[in-house]
Amino acid sequence: MPEGGPRPGGPLSAVLFDVDDTLIDFAGAARAALSDLVLAALGAGPGRDTTADQDLLEAAHRAWRQVSEREYTRFTLGELDFDQMRRSRMAAFLQAIDRPAARELDHELMEQRRHEAIFGHFRAFADVRPALDRLRRAGIAVHVLSNSDGPHQRAKLAAVGLDELAADGFYSGDLGVAKPDPQIFRLAAERLGRAPAELAYVGDRWDVDVLGSAAAGLAPVWLNRAGLARPDQAAAAGAVVQIATLDELVVDADGLHLG
Ligand SMILES: [Mg+2]
Repeated sequence: MPEGGPRPGGPLSAVLFDVDDTLIDFAGAARAALSDLVLAALGAGPGRDTTADQDLLEAAHRAWRQVSEREYTRFTLGELDFDQMRRSRMAAFLQAIDRPAARELDHELMEQRRHEAIFGHFRAFADVRPALDRLRRAGIAVHVLSNSDGPHQRAKLAAVGLDELAADGFYSGDLGVAKPDPQIFRLAAERLGRAPAELAYVGDRWDVDVLGSAAAGLAPVWLNRAGLARPDQAAAAGAVVQIATLDELVVDADGLHLG
């Protein structure tokens, strides 16, 4: 270890955060926006058959799950740009939902409506602002690193009042490399002028956030808000710290220690 570098388990100089479902309740917003959209376009109408609407919503969320991971992966791999991904995801959804009326809908218009609706539902989790303030007061830098389109993600952060994080950050759509590729984490460390071992990465997904950041030599923190079963530790290089909320990022007089 180079002289002056952080000792194992020592204080960290910066924390990088994933955005979706780490800082911002993306899953909740996406679900609410899809429900709004589908009920408005295909629902039985106010005061009509609520059982049919429940069935419709179940089919919609099932279909969205089927298509969204696949299409988003095509974006992160660079096969589609962000806007192409949005259009192709909606077109695939309108086929997958298995409602004849859905095939008559204009997928571009539907995506525009969904996009507008989701921005109305985005919220930062309640533990975010206190954690960011606590880290900054201790002199620890905070930034975001996200598999997303930069302008889209900055707009989202600004919409939930995290404008200061929107001013910079690392986005796969801008950098041409995506999590879990360790290169995106190394690139962020290099641009921050810090060794990877000085950085913690906090994210909700074991596969992309934990394994990617661990492989790059950062200190991985798995934010397990949902209380999921912990995957096999063996695939991660070194120890993984697990937290249930950002309140567990505790700073003492020496700084932030993990584990
Ligand atoms: Mg996430």
